[in-house]
Amino acid sequence: MVRGGQDNRGRVRLVEIGGAEVSSDDPQGGAETWARVKRRLRAELGEDVFASWFARLEMDAVADGCARLSVPTRFLKSWIEAHYAERVFAVYKAEAPSLERISIGVRGTIVRDGAGAPKRGSDLPRLVIGEAGGATGPARAETKLPVPPGGGREERTEFGEVNGAPLDPRLTFESFVLGRSNALAHAAGDRVAQHQSNQPLYNPLFLHAGVGLGKTHLLHAIGHEARRGGRRVIYLTADRFMYGFVASLKAQTSLAFKERLRGIDLLIIDDVQFIQGKSIQQEFGHTLNALIDAGRQIVVAADRPPSDLESLDERVRSRLGGGLVVEIGALDEALRGSILSARVAAMKAAHPTFDVSAAVIAYVARAITANGRDLEGAVNRLLAHATLTGSAITVETAEEAIRDLVRNREPRRVKIEDIQKLVASRYNVSRSDILSERRTAAVVRPRQIAMYLSKVLTLRSLPEIGRRFGGRDHTTVLHAVRKIEKAIADDTSLSDEVELLKRMLQE
Ligand code: ADP
Ligand code: MG
Repeated sequence: MVRGGQDNRGRVRLVEIGGAEVSSDDPQGGAETWARVKRRLRAELGEDVFASWFARLEMDAVADGCARLSVPTRFLKSWIEAHYAERVFAVYKAEAPSLERISIGVRGTIVRDGAGAPKRGSDLPRLVIGEAGGATGPARAETKLPVPPGGGREERTEFGEVNGAPLDPRLTFESFVLGRSNALAHAAGDRVAQHQSNQPLYNPLFLHAGVGLGKTHLLHAIGHEARRGGRRVIYLTADRFMYGFVASLKAQTSLAFKERLRGIDLLIIDDVQFIQGKSIQQEFGHTLNALIDAGRQIVVAADRPPSDLESLDERVRSRLGGGLVVEIGALDEALRGSILSARVAAMKAAHPTFDVSAAVIAYVARAITANGRDLEGAVNRLLAHATLTGSAITVETAEEAIRDLVRNREPRRVKIEDIQKLVASRYNVSRSDILSERRTAAVVRPRQIAMYLSKVLTLRSLPEIGRRFGGRDHTTVLHAVRKIEKAIADDTSLSDEVELLKRMLQE
C-alpha cells in the first residue's frame, strides 16, 4: 500500500525519507525482478506509453528496501513521478513484496549548484515513494534544482495543443562565440534564421555535436532571430515532442501532430536522438514529411549524425540527412578562451568587481578542454572564489578552484590509429591487414574488435570509423559493433580481453 497518497491536486504525493532503514537485502528486488516489472508495465500500459516513458527507466540498485531507479532527463523524472510513480511502485511491490520504497533519480547529467559546483545526477536529491516514512516525511512535489535552458516547465503543457518549450533569452547569436569548429554551423543557422521565403534553403538543417558544444545555444539563437523576423517558431525537445504526441493520443479528439503544426514557419527539435517508440517515430516521420513538403523550415540537433541514429527508421534517417548536415567540432583552445572572456564580461554586469586576468583565462582555456558546460562551470567557480575571498584570482587560486573539473572529466583521448596498432600487435597481425580487404578469420575478428573499440572509445561517427578502416561502409562498422557486443555478452574471456585492451588504450 502506498501511504504517500495523493495531494490536493490529485497528484501522487511524493515523500522524502531520511535516516537509515533496516536492510532487507532482497534478492528478489534485483535485476530479474526488475525485468519482470518492466514486462508488466509494458503489458499494463501498452507499447506506446511504455516506450515513451519507461524504455529508459533503469534500476540502479536495491538497498535497504529501496529500489533506486533512474532516467536520463529531469523531464522524464518529473513526468514519471507525477503520473506513474504509484503505479511503478505497486507493480514492483507485487513482484518483490519486501520492497518498501522506490526512488527516481536523473543519471548522467551534470547539474551545477549555485556556486557552479557540479553534481552527478545520481547524487541529486531523489524523491522517494513508498511506505517507510510516508506518514511523517515532509511532502515535496519538486526538488529545487536549476532549470536547464528551455526545460523544466514541461509538466504544465496543456493537452490538445502544441506548446513549444520557451527560448532562453541568453542563448542568442550575439552571445554565441564564433570559432573554427562552429563557423559553418553558425553560418548555416544564421542563413536559415534570416531566410524569409517558404522555399527553405536547406531542409532540414541538421546540426550534430557532442555534449556541451553549443547545439542548444545555436538552436535557441535561430529561434530568437526567426521570431524577430516575424516568423512563427516552435522549439521542441525530443521529450516534449513525445509528450505532445502521447497527449494527443490520449485526448483522442485532437488532430495528428503534423496538422497542429501546420500554422508554423519554423520547427526546431533538440536532441532527436532521444525520440523513440515505434508509433512516435512514425509520427515524427510524418511530421517531417508534411512540414518539409509544405515548405516549412525544420532545424534539428542531435548528438550524432543522421546515419548513426540507430533507433530511428531508415526512411526517417535519410529524410533527416536529406538537407544540410553540419557538425560542430570540439572547441579549440582559442575558442575556449573567447567563450571564457565573453562569459566573464557578461557576469561583470551583475558583479562589477569580478575581474579575471588574461593569464587566468589562458590557464583555464588550456586546462578545461571538454566542453562549453565545463567552461561555464569554471567561470562560476572563479566568481564564487572571488566573492568569497574578496581577493584577486591568480593562476594558483584558479587552479585550485577548477581542480576537480579538470581532473575528473579528462579521460584520455583515444585515437583510432592507436586502437588499430594495439589490436594488431595483440593479435599478431599488421595494421595494414586490419585496413585491408582480407576476410580470413585471423584478420576479421581483430578488425571487428578494433572497430568496436573505435566506437566505444572515441566520439567518431560510424561513417567516419568506416573511412578510417580502409574506406568501409558505416553498416559494416555497425555490424562489427553489434557482433562484438554480442560476443562479449556470451563469452567472458573475450569480455576480459576487450576490457584489458580498453584499459591499455586509456592509460
Ligand atoms: P549542447 O546543446 O551541444 O550540449 P549547449 O548549447 O547547451 O550544448 O552549450 C553548453 C554551454 O556552453 C552553454 O552554456 C552554451 O551557452 C555554451 N557554449 C557552447 N558553445 C558556445 C559558443 N560558441 N559561444 C558561447 N557559448 C557557448
Ligand atoms: Mg543541448
